[in-house]
Amino acid sequence: MSVPPPLPSGTITFLFTDIEGSTKLLERLGERYEAILDEHRRILGEAIAAGGGVAFGTEGDAVFAVFAVPSGAVRAAVAGQRALADQPWPEGIDLRVRMGVHTGEATLTGRDYVGLEVHRAARIVVERYGGKVPGTAEELSALPGIGRSTAGAIAAIAFGADEPVLDANVRRLVARLFGVGGDPKTASVRKILWEGSARLVAEGKGRDTALAAMDLGATVCLPRAPRCGECPVRFFCVAFRAGTQEEIPPRTSRKAVPHHDVVAALFRRPDGSLFLVRRRLGGLLGGLWAFPSGKRTPGETLETALRRTVREKLGVRATIQRKVGVVSHAYSHYRITLHGYLCEAPGGRIPSDAGAGWLSRGGRGRYAIPRADRKLLELIQQEDKL
Ligand code: SF4
Repeated sequence: MSVPPPLPSGTITFLFTDIEGSTKLLERLGERYEAILDEHRRILGEAIAAGGGVAFGTEGDAVFAVFAVPSGAVRAAVAGQRALADQPWPEGIDLRVRMGVHTGEATLTGRDYVGLEVHRAARIVVERYGGKVPGTAEELSALPGIGRSTAGAIAAIAFGADEPVLDANVRRLVARLFGVGGDPKTASVRKILWEGSARLVAEGKGRDTALAAMDLGATVCLPRAPRCGECPVRFFCVAFRAGTQEEIPPRTSRKAVPHHDVVAALFRRPDGSLFLVRRRLGGLLGGLWAFPSGKRTPGETLETALRRTVREKLGVRATIQRKVGVVSHAYSHYRITLHGYLCEAPGGRIPSDAGAGWLSRGGRGRYAIPRADRKLLELIQQEDKL
């Protein structure tokens, strides 16, 4: 199994898509709709990848993708619309896909994002500012989830204020331009970088400066092999003149990523439906539906861990029938190897409540399922087709 690409964090841009009139299309096409859906996902997947983005989720006919820079999302949206329009869809279908782009800060949770801060900030804006987004960096940075750089970017780009920005890309650009060689994570270096970014702001041109700095940092002044030969500010760049652009900012060594073996029980009814439990709200992947699973503790065999997990979580003594497959998955702070086993409960009975459900064969899209569990689901569905 290939390791999924890392998801960006900090200030990111989402691209959301969904098919216009999908319910009518489904009613009209019946089972043939699935092929159209898959083809549209393939086309969007290629456009998203070409824009430097990562598709991190699908829900029915909706696709969610994330980009480190807004221009990538816009490029992907344009390329996706063109490719969808050029596609010779069967049966005279005129497939129209709505798309929305949103830039902001979101918290990366596993392989998904949550935006609780956005929700809180929206409520404050309604109550404190009568629903009008404030226009100064000072007011914006007082809102939850909006850091100094995001506040500067909103004030500059949305309101034309002469405010500096300092996202990760601009940080690198400014460090090289002014030859600031220290660790940008330290307060003292950060202060120097803010001063440098402020020096870049041309009077009355805050919006242009912010956009230019963010774009230059994202597309030319790259972390590795910066494209100095085509950089419009190379003649003012201290690092370029000194030939130190590859050394600034200094690289920090990456910590080893922890790894866990996780076992999952797949209970299947004779009609092919599979048992899922809803993950605890507030926890990792909270609210999603997954196979009952747990981590293997040191010294346990996978089978022992599985029996213990099922006993603890469902109060059932499971009989293991066979292994279904193994899936590797990376979250932001650790990796897992997920071992899926087909299991049987005594008498086929599993206690079901509001936090449990049966995913019928072909019932894709009804439950929001984490990526790793979906891969296991695909493995067992492939078996069904054999
Ligand atoms: S000259 Fe090179 S190092 Fe300097 S800002 Fe341009 S791309 Fe970055």
